[in-house]
Amino acid sequence: MQLKTILNRVAKQSGFVFGTIELALLTATTMQILVQLSERKGSRAICSGCHAKRPGYDRLPLRSFQFVPLWNIPVSFFYAPRRVDCPACGVLVELLPWATGKSPMTTSFAWFIASWAKVLSWTETARRFSVSPQVVFDAVKHAVDWGRAHQNLDGIRSLGVDELSWKKGQKYLTVVYQVDHHHKRLLWIGRFFDWLGAERCKLIEFVASDTWAAFLGTVARKACGAVHVVDRFHVMQLFSKAIDQVRRDEARKLRDRGDHVTLKRTRWVLLKRKHNLTDHQSGRLRQLLRVKLRTVRAYLLKEDFHAFWSYVSPHWAGRFLDSWTRDALRSRMPAFATLARTLRELRPLLLN
Ligand SMILES: [Zn+2]
Repeated sequence: MQLKTILNRVAKQSGFVFGTIELALLTATTMQILVQLSERKGSRAICSGCHAKRPGYDRLPLRSFQFVPLWNIPVSFFYAPRRVDCPACGVLVELLPWATGKSPMTTSFAWFIASWAKVLSWTETARRFSVSPQVVFDAVKHAVDWGRAHQNLDGIRSLGVDELSWKKGQKYLTVVYQVDHHHKRLLWIGRFFDWLGAERCKLIEFVASDTWAAFLGTVARKACGAVHVVDRFHVMQLFSKAIDQVRRDEARKLRDRGDHVTLKRTRWVLLKRKHNLTDHQSGRLRQLLRVKLRTVRAYLLKEDFHAFWSYVSPHWAGRFLDSWTRDALRSRMPAFATLARTLRELRPLLLN
């Protein structure tokens, strides 16, 4: 069987035919398969502007397009694109079915590299297929662009928003998920609302996010019709921070007085929910609760607050929130006073 037969089977290009195929020996060990392409006799070129068949104008120099490797030997298509004289668009390069724009890659090769870049690191992909990192980047970009252009954004009603830190926490990315019933998917990283468009933003009904001030502002501006919910996980994270603070301060004071034992290894005992504790941790918690400590009061305040999430009626949830924040403000623990003030600011969002 000839290579041409295989190519015609896997990569037939309508309006074009495969010509000479040769194996070029670049060095003793590196080879390249060169495939000549030419237009089918008598066929007219397609204008890349309006996609209509147009008369030819002239021909550009020979260009190469990298194709999927065979037996790990790089394969390149060679073709000299025609220019068309289009009454609608002027003189333009013809549309090629195997590549887009000025890309030196065939579309098949871009998909091939992009699919490997999903399972290997980009560097490893570049090494395995002897291409530059730029080629891998372009291939992935091609796949992502295609995905975005074909993504169906209709009918999104609920969003979940989070930040992802990278470069050791120095940079943040906004990550947006669709969290509708039976439908959870990553939608976007970065400036989301601009991309979604004003019309679709109006249709958003629920947004769950953390308490990050910048994002609260954005949601208020862009998705004005939406009910913004600050989600439980992120709120409870604020509690963990406050408890950590109280525990650290108190542990330091105890250590200064020579007590190294009381608060030792209690961090997770205090942060985890009761039913998630190991037997050993439960025992530790019981011991701890007998001691009169600020840390214990902080813990009990946190455990109390979990009741907030069981309210169905915004009215009673509000009453609970007010009474809880009052207690927290009186607790003489600065970390909890700060937390109480934050929760008061978030009150309208928490009650949504
Ligand atoms: Zn045209």
